[in-house]
Amino acid sequence: MSALQRAIDEVVRPAAAEVDAEAEFPEASIEALGEAGLLGLTVAEDMGGSGGSLADAVDVVRALAGVCGSTAMVVMMHYAATAVVESRGPQEVRRQLGAGRHLATLAFSEAGSRSHFWAPLGTATKSGDAVRLDARKSWITAAGRADYYVWSSRPVAAEGAMTLWLVPSATAGLATPGPFDGLGLRGNCSAPVDANGAEVPEQARLGDDGSGLDIALSEVLPWFLVLSAAFSVGVMEAVTDETGRHMTATRLEHLDQTLADQPVTRADHARMRIATDGAAALLHDTVAAVTTAQPHAPLRTLEVKAAAGEAAITVTDLAMKICGGAAFRRELGVERHFRDARAARVMAPTTDALLDFVGRAINGLPLL
Ligand SMILES: Cc1cc2nc3c(=O)[nH]c(=O)nc-3n(C[C@H](O)[C@H](O)[C@H](O)COP(=O)(O)OP(=O)(O)OC[C@H]3O[C@@H](n4cnc5c(N)ncnc54)[C@H](O)[C@@H]3O)c2cc1C
Repeated sequence: MSALQRAIDEVVRPAAAEVDAEAEFPEASIEALGEAGLLGLTVAEDMGGSGGSLADAVDVVRALAGVCGSTAMVVMMHYAATAVVESRGPQEVRRQLGAGRHLATLAFSEAGSRSHFWAPLGTATKSGDAVRLDARKSWITAAGRADYYVWSSRPVAAEGAMTLWLVPSATAGLATPGPFDGLGLRGNCSAPVDANGAEVPEQARLGDDGSGLDIALSEVLPWFLVLSAAFSVGVMEAVTDETGRHMTATRLEHLDQTLADQPVTRADHARMRIATDGAAALLHDTVAAVTTAQPHAPLRTLEVKAAAGEAAITVTDLAMKICGGAAFRRELGVERHFRDARAARVMAPTTDALLDFVGRAINGLPLL
C-alpha cells in the first residue's frame, strides 16, 4: 500500500464527513500527509523533498479530492504556491517545505478586484529597510493555518501590474476578520485576510518588482489550473463509482429489480462515466503536453480547468438525480461531492475568465 493510500485510509477518509459537517480545518489529515512525505513531494531532493513532478502532484490531488475535498484543496494550493517558492524562494523555506512540516498557499484574490487576480489593489510601500503590505485579501485557502502566503501586491516602484512576496502568516499586521462558512469545501478555511502595515524584508520578494504577473502566469498558474482539473476529475471518479454502487445495491422490491436495471438511470450513469473519462483524458493529455513542453501546452492548461470544472458540476448533478432522495441526505456522501464540485467554476481564473482566455488564445489576441 502506498504512503498516500495509507494516509487516506487511516486518517483522511475517517475524518472527511466531520471536517465537512463542522467546517473544521483537516489538521490531522494534513499532518498525516506531511508525515507521509506528500507535502514535500514537489520540493527538490537536495532541499529534502521528493523531487516529484506535476504528474505526481496530480495523482495526489486526484486521489484526495474524492475522499475529502477540503484536504485536497489545501494540498492543491500548497503545491501551486510551492512551485514558485521552489523557483524563487530562499533555501531555508524550501528546506522547511521539503521536510513536510510547513504549509504554503496563494493569497491572490482581493476584495476590490475580486476574481480578477491579475489586478491586485493591495499595496507594497518602502518603509526603511522593510516593505509595508496593505491589502484586503478576500479568500486564502488555509488562512491562518498555512505557514506561508505567496502574496500579490501592486509593485513598489516598477511598472507592471503585480509583485509577488513570500509572507509568513505570523507576520504582525495580518489578521483574519472571520472564519470560513461555505457551501462546499467547508474545511478548507478560505477566510479573508487583511494586511494593515504588515512589514516584510525586501528579500521576501519573489522575482523582480513589477514582474509578478508574468511569474504568476508562467510559474503558478499552470500548476493551479492542472491541479484544479485533477481535483474535479477526482471528485467525478469518486461520485461515478459511488453512484454505481448505490445503483446496484438499491432495490425496487415490488419489481424485483435494482436501480441499475432501470434504462434511464443507466443512461444517466453512462453520461457520468463518459464526462468523467473525457475530463480524465484531457487532464492526461495536458499533463503530457506540459511535461514535454509541447507548443499546445499553454492552451491545454487554460482549457482543462474549465472543462473539468464544468464537467464535475454536470456529473455531480446527475449523481444527485440518480441517487434520488437518498443523495439528498448527508449519509450517502453524494451531496458533499455536489457541493465541493461547485468551487472550481468560481475559483480564479473562473470558468468565464478561462472561456475568454481560450477564445483570445485561439484568435491570436493577448490574454489580458
Ligand atoms: C473554496 C474557495 C477557495 C479559494 N481559495 C483561494 C486562495 O487560496 N487564494 C486566492 O487568492 N483565492 C482563493 N479563492 C478565491 C477565488 O479564486 C476567486 O477569486 C473568488 O471565488 C471570486 O469570487 P468573487 O465573489 O470575488 O467573484 P466575482 O469576481 O465577483 O465574480 C462573480 C462572477 O462574475 C463573473 N465575472 C467577473 N468578471 C467577469 C467578466 N469580466 N466577464 C465575465 N464574467 C465575469 C465571474 O466569472 C463569476 O462567475 C477561493 C475561492 C473559493 C470558492
